[in-house]
Amino acid sequence: MTTSLDAMNSLPLRDDLRGRSPYGAPMIEVPYALNVNENTHPMPPEVVEAIVDGVRAAAGRLNRYPDRDFVALREELAEYLGHGLASKNVWAANGSNEILQQILQVFGGPGRSVLSFTPTYSMYPLLASGTNTEFIAGHRAEDFSLSAESAARQVSENRPDVTILCSPNNPTGPGLGLDVITAVYEAASEFNGMVVVDEAYAEFARDPENTALSLLPGRQRMIVSRTMSKAFAFAGARVGYFAADPSVVDAIMLVRLPYHLSAVTQATALAALRHRSELLANVEDIKRQRDRIVRTLTECGLKPASSDSNFVFFGGVPDSRALWEDLLSDGVLIRDVGIPGHLRVTAGTEEETTAFLRSLERHLDDRQTPRATPSE
Ligand code: PMP
Repeated sequence: MTTSLDAMNSLPLRDDLRGRSPYGAPMIEVPYALNVNENTHPMPPEVVEAIVDGVRAAAGRLNRYPDRDFVALREELAEYLGHGLASKNVWAANGSNEILQQILQVFGGPGRSVLSFTPTYSMYPLLASGTNTEFIAGHRAEDFSLSAESAARQVSENRPDVTILCSPNNPTGPGLGLDVITAVYEAASEFNGMVVVDEAYAEFARDPENTALSLLPGRQRMIVSRTMSKAFAFAGARVGYFAADPSVVDAIMLVRLPYHLSAVTQATALAALRHRSELLANVEDIKRQRDRIVRTLTECGLKPASSDSNFVFFGGVPDSRALWEDLLSDGVLIRDVGIPGHLRVTAGTEEETTAFLRSLERHLDDRQTPRATPSE
């Protein structure tokens, strides 16, 4: 029998793509989808109205190409970021995945390498293979932490053309100290390497001041990547962006497709940004649910990591695949990130979080996991 894999492999694929698997978070219709770190709060109706108005105005001009340099959107993003940034420092694309792809198209490529510290965001190796860049998997400590000394040493040893620091880190949760980021930048300065700080979850940080945006002045080879997919509840709109020295923006223009950000995307993003206070209003509630998950899982005898994100990574699960399936049987979809004994759950609304915790507690009881007493 010929499988679709056999059929694909009979195509004249690039050799380095053979045997690779695509990004594959399961897409299953369930009552409680807590597996891809979306903001699960519904869009406020007034924001929906503003988006519809913006898109209606854009629709009348869809016969023309959009503003290729999306200046209005970049101005609005720069104003949102603050830190003295202007539109010339900011660039946007269809999700921060496209941002990272564009960065690797410019600074990676054949004969070049990108280093990141695993476990980390699963798209980095895929973006590396798509751009024919060698992926180097750096190491973390046993508890998944990363010290300035270890990170800088690994960068010095491997001399990657691009280093990606995920802060807060997906899937483990915590943000990096700014000392780690500056140590990596200094190490990469020895060989003119680029340093990308992927801050997709920055708005959920326990300390909002802990952002690499504050490190940008005087660091020409540092890029801070952000997204509207998480805190802005805007995953469906596909808007990611970065802040960096204007020369980096000029370099990205060498590879971007002309008019890559459609007029509809630009209008949608502008409307959302102008209503950011309504959209970001749910961030505090999500942080409360996240902290509630950490507390409850600890009481259940599990080992949740501290989190600066909208998700919680937890260990101490005797059989993570079985628990993942148990939860799914209750309509609760979380993420098996492929690390034995660990799972990751997105902090949803209060109701979704309650459904997750109830289902989890019930299945743990069924499996008779020993419980920690509150004083432990
Ligand atoms: N970076 C990290 C760390 C992520 O977790 C994600 C999404 N899960 C992204 C980037 C990409 O998000 P998007 O393309 O939706 O901006």
